[in-house]
Amino acid sequence: MLTIKTDIKNKQWLIYILNEFKHINRAKFQIEVISITQNTNNTNIIYYTNNSIANAISIFNSNKPVPSSEIIYLKDNLYILNNTQTKNFTLNYDLLWNAFVFLTRYEEYLSEQNGKKIHSYSINHPRLDKTTFKIPIVNILFNELENFITRHFNKLVFDTQQKAVIDLSHDVDYITKTIQLRLKQTILNSYNTLKYILKPNLFIEHLKKTIKFTFSNPSYWCFDYWTNLENKYNYKSTFYIYVKNNTKNFKTWLIDPSYNIQTNKILQNKLKQLYNNGFQIGLHGSYSSATNYTLLKKEKMILENILNIPITKTRQHWLNYSETITPNNHSKLFQYDSTLGWNDIIGFRNGCASCFKPYNFETQKAFAHTEIPQIIMDSNVFDYNNNIKDVYKILNYAKFIPKTPYFSISWHQRVNNNDYKWHILYEEILSEYI
Ligand SMILES: [Zn+2]
Repeated sequence: MLTIKTDIKNKQWLIYILNEFKHINRAKFQIEVISITQNTNNTNIIYYTNNSIANAISIFNSNKPVPSSEIIYLKDNLYILNNTQTKNFTLNYDLLWNAFVFLTRYEEYLSEQNGKKIHSYSINHPRLDKTTFKIPIVNILFNELENFITRHFNKLVFDTQQKAVIDLSHDVDYITKTIQLRLKQTILNSYNTLKYILKPNLFIEHLKKTIKFTFSNPSYWCFDYWTNLENKYNYKSTFYIYVKNNTKNFKTWLIDPSYNIQTNKILQNKLKQLYNNGFQIGLHGSYSSATNYTLLKKEKMILENILNIPITKTRQHWLNYSETITPNNHSKLFQYDSTLGWNDIIGFRNGCASCFKPYNFETQKAFAHTEIPQIIMDSNVFDYNNNIKDVYKILNYAKFIPKTPYFSISWHQRVNNNDYKWHILYEEILSEYI
C-alpha cells in the first residue's frame, strides 16, 4: 500500500488521477489518499502538500493553478504548466496536477466553458505550442512517478510493460463517390493548391490533381482490400458505420455520410460477413448525434437490429465532441469510444497512448466507458500536410513509452484507389509496426 498524505480539501481529482496511474502503469499495490492530519500505520508515505515538510518524501502541490497558454520544458519530452514548480520538495514540480490537466484535457474543458469550442482542431486549443501534442506527456509523467516510487519504496513494485495493442480502424464515410464528397474534397484540395501559388510547377501539379479528383470515378468499395491486408498480419480492425437519420438540412446533407445501412442489403451482408470473420463493427455517430442522446441511441439501436450484433464501440463523425454532453452519452451507451484525436494534426490529444477512463468534471469521477485514443488519422497526413517522419516518431513513442500501449490509428475505408493512394503509408505502418 502507498499512502498519499495531502493538505488538499477536495481529493476527488487526485483519487482519479492516481487510479489511472495505477491502471496504466500496472502498480501491484493499492494507493490511498488521506488527509495530512490523519494517522496511518503504513510506512510508505508520500506527502503531497503546498508547504514543504522536513525529512519527508514529498511532491509539490501547486494548488491547482488555472492552466495558462504557456508550458515549460524541464527536460527533453518532459513539460509542465509553467506555474507548477518550486524548491525544497523531494519532487519539485506538481506532477500529479499536470498529469490530471493533460489527461482530462482540462484546458479544452475550460475553453468550452468560456464559450470557445475546440471542435477537435488543435488550432482552436488555447495552448500556444502545438508541438507538445507530439509527446505522450501523461505516459512520461506516469513513468517519472513510477521511478520516483520505486526509488523511495523498494517494496512497492510494478508489473512489466505490456505488448502494444494497435487498434486499427476505418471510418466508413463513403462507399460511393457522392456529389457531397466531390464538393468537400475539391474545396479542400483547391485551398491546398493555392498554398503553392508562388511555386508554378508545384501549383500546376496540385491543380491537375484537384481537377482529376473532381471528375474521376473510381470504386469506393474497398472493404476487401483492408481485410485481406490485415489478415496477413492476423489483425482484425474495427469498421465504424454511419446510420442515416431523418434530419434534413444542408449541413447534415453536406457533412454527414450519405449511404443508408437500413436499405443497403449489400452493405448489411458485407458487415455481417466481416463480423463473422472476427472484424469489429462500431457506430460512426452522425455529426449531430455528438450532442443529441436520443439520436445517438437510435442510431446504435438501428445498427444493432439490422446486423443483429451488439455495438460496444463508437467514434463520432468529424470527431465532433462536446465536453459536457458527448462523454455523458457515450458512457450510457458504449463500452469504448475512440473519438479523442485531432482532425488537423497527428499526436496525443490526451497526452496518452494508453486506454483510460475519461473524467467527468461534474461528478468529479471517472466515466464508465473506456477511451481508446486516436493518435494518427490518414487525413492528418494527406489533407493537412503533417510530416510523414512525425508519423514514425509518434508511433515509436506510442509503442515504447507507455507501460500499457493501447491506441488507435484511423484510415478511411475509401482511400485505397487512385483518388487518394493513402493506403500505401498504411501498408508501410503495418509492415513496420505490427
Ligand atoms: Zn467520418
